Amino acid sequence: MAIERTLSIIKPDGVQKNLIGEIFGRFEKAGLKIVGAKMVHLSKAQAEGFYAVHSERPFFNDLVSYMTSGPVVVSALEGEDAVALHRKLLGATNPAEADAGTVRADFAESIEENIGHGSDATETAAQEIEYFFGSDGVCARTR
Ligand code: GDP
Repeated sequence: MAIERTLSIIKPDGVQKNLIGEIFGRFEKAGLKIVGAKMVHLSKAQAEGFYAVHSERPFFNDLVSYMTSGPVVVSALEGEDAVALHRKLLGATNPAEADAGTVRADFAESIEENIGHGSDATETAAQEIEYFFGSDGVCARTR
């Protein structure tokens, strides 16, 4: 397995529920290293740009409203098989279908308000990390 990076977002409901430490703790206990992190209140344009792939979906406007409803915590995570491991820790998009013990099963209200985002492939992870951190905004961690 390769060392990968992935982009994680604790969405507005996760921040509002005071779950930043709980969620970061789960990531770190699973072996992921936080190599970049910041709190941002996304503008409409930032949220629309991030979710541009979903712009034709019926839920797009609601998704943008939700993602701009309060601050989010954006982080870059690094570790073995980080993309798949992080999505496994989050659980399925729909919390009703998420495995027990996952972030979404434990804390999410609905398929929309589902606490977290995780990149779905190494290519999208690289694009998403660039989107939020630019080319030099993530730290190299050797320990
Ligand atoms: P993810 O990769 O698990 O985040 O899922 P997707 O990329 O398919 O969807 C992006 C985000 O859009 C999800 O995390 C949800 O917040 C939202 N979403 C996905 N499907 C639906 C849906 O059917 N209805 C609504 N209202 N929101 C959805």
